[in-house]
Amino acid sequence: MKEDLSRLIALQEIDLQIKKLGDELANGQAEILKRQASIEEKKDKIVKHASTIENAEARRKELEAEIESEVAHIKDRQSKLMNVQTNREYQSLLKEIEETKKSNKRREEEIVLLMEQVESLQKKVSEQGNVCKSEEKLLTEVEEKITLLSHETEEKKGKLEKTREQQIKKIPENLRRRYDQLLDKRNGLAITGVINGVCQGCFMNIPAQQFNEVLKGEQLLSCPTCQRMMFHQTAAKED
Ligand SMILES: [Zn+2]
Repeated sequence: MKEDLSRLIALQEIDLQIKKLGDELANGQAEILKRQASIEEKKDKIVKHASTIENAEARRKELEAEIESEVAHIKDRQSKLMNVQTNREYQSLLKEIEETKKSNKRREEEIVLLMEQVESLQKKVSEQGNVCKSEEKLLTEVEEKITLLSHETEEKKGKLEKTREQQIKKIPENLRRRYDQLLDKRNGLAITGVINGVCQGCFMNIPAQQFNEVLKGEQLLSCPTCQRMMFHQTAAKED
């Protein structure tokens, strides 16, 4: 039993290393996805700003055309002023001219606002564009790093898996099955140390009687809380 126990512990060490490699790679890939999403988000904003700029420019042209036609209208009314017969007609023309001038002034004010909006958006587009460029550069670096890591991981994993195969052959079938099931159900940790009566898998106390059995190391007991197999450990392992 003591031999089986130490083989299981060794196997767990290998499986933890394999898991760690997989986790590192998964973290790297998650980072890539996060960076890609951030770049996409900025690009979407740039597209939105560009479309707002386009609309503002179109509106400005429309207003400029209106002003031009209204200026012509004013000139026409002004020349008519010379030939009016009655004071009423004269006053009515003057009023029309004033009204038109006022509405042109409103158009000019709107043009100024539009130009300010366009200027500020163009600034944002250029800033976001620069941020995108540097984020894309960083992304490329991270991608290269992860590609390299992925090759290294494959290699290391391959070696570990070979060692695992050899190791697992030495363990009796029933224990092997129990171990693999736990590994699958308990997040990659099937056998765990017990330090001062505390299971290091779930950090719950185990009953004193059971802890005494674990101390003896004559049988493979399961933690009553997490069901992981247990062995006695004297001190916390350095990570
Ligand atoms: Zn436990």
